[in-house]
Amino acid sequence: MYELKTGRTFLVRLAPGSDLLEGITEKVVRSGVRAGLISGIGALRKAAVGIFDEKTQEYHINHIDRELEICALTGNVSLKDSEPFVHCHLTLSDREGKAFGGHCISGCEVFVCELTIIELLGDSPVREPQDECGGLALWPRQD
Ligand code: ZN
Repeated sequence: MYELKTGRTFLVRLAPGSDLLEGITEKVVRSGVRAGLISGIGALRKAAVGIFDEKTQEYHINHIDRELEICALTGNVSLKDSEPFVHCHLTLSDREGKAFGGHCISGCEVFVCELTIIELLGDSPVREPQDECGGLALWPRQD
């Protein structure tokens, strides 16, 4: 188990038309955060979310090409290849109020996104491929 302490907190709104994951990553890198917590709300013009398939060991991608609310954006920042790496999941809802979501990938176009980034200070977890989880780059387990 990693133990870190909270540092700075950033509140930021992403630009309309920007890519959600790229925008979050740019804010994280610019702020100097190397470990942290991310949350957000807002709306997307379109979305791309993934579900990891254990059998194929690849993400199945769902593209949703319509307006969506971001009911919940939650994620973390840790290190991968010595660089800050953002891992986020989304819960979205459509015009009928139906909710769905998944792993956030590039391809989500922002209309509005209000983000909270909380910095964590200490030794950041380092993502490495984990054979027990299909080679996904995850935090090492510390049993
Ligand atoms: Zn994920």
